[in-house]
Amino acid sequence: MSLSLDKNGAAPADASGQEPLLAAALGRFEGLLAARGLRLTAARRAIVEAVLRRAGHFTVEALVADLRSRGLAASKATVYRALPLLTEAGILASAVLTADERTYERAVGREHHDHLVCQGCGKVVEFEYEAIEVLQRELAARYGFTLEGHLHQLFGRCADCRKGDTK
Ligand SMILES: [Zn+2]
Ligand SMILES: [Zn+2]
Repeated sequence: MSLSLDKNGAAPADASGQEPLLAAALGRFEGLLAARGLRLTAARRAIVEAVLRRAGHFTVEALVADLRSRGLAASKATVYRALPLLTEAGILASAVLTADERTYERAVGREHHDHLVCQGCGKVVEFEYEAIEVLQRELAARYGFTLEGHLHQLFGRCADCRKGDTK
């Protein structure tokens, strides 16, 4: 399965089944927080809700804007501090990292995938390729690692951008 996103990572909104997803995400987050002696505060809960409302890839700035538009005074610092916790809880994942932008995406309720990034137009294609996943785990094991995650991006030029190229 692959899904094409525009430059800003906008994908068709998937609002179906958000309620059980939210409950699962909040449950996981609360468990992780409790293990650290932290509580699921109103701000942390609002951040989880904002992540689940977002489709596709988004920046931290966009997430902060979402919270503010809902009248929640979540500071950028609060959101930044929550990022590693959300990632560890499997709610959020890093999406694409380029020279001028870093995006994230919802991880809960989705399959793991990696990204192809067009250097011409910024288009991002999500892909899953099991052989790559297997090889990464084998490689990690060879060095005595167990993998907890990876950020795998392939850069190139998409077919549309190559159309204009002359050889
Ligand atoms: Zn993605
Ligand atoms: Zn392109």
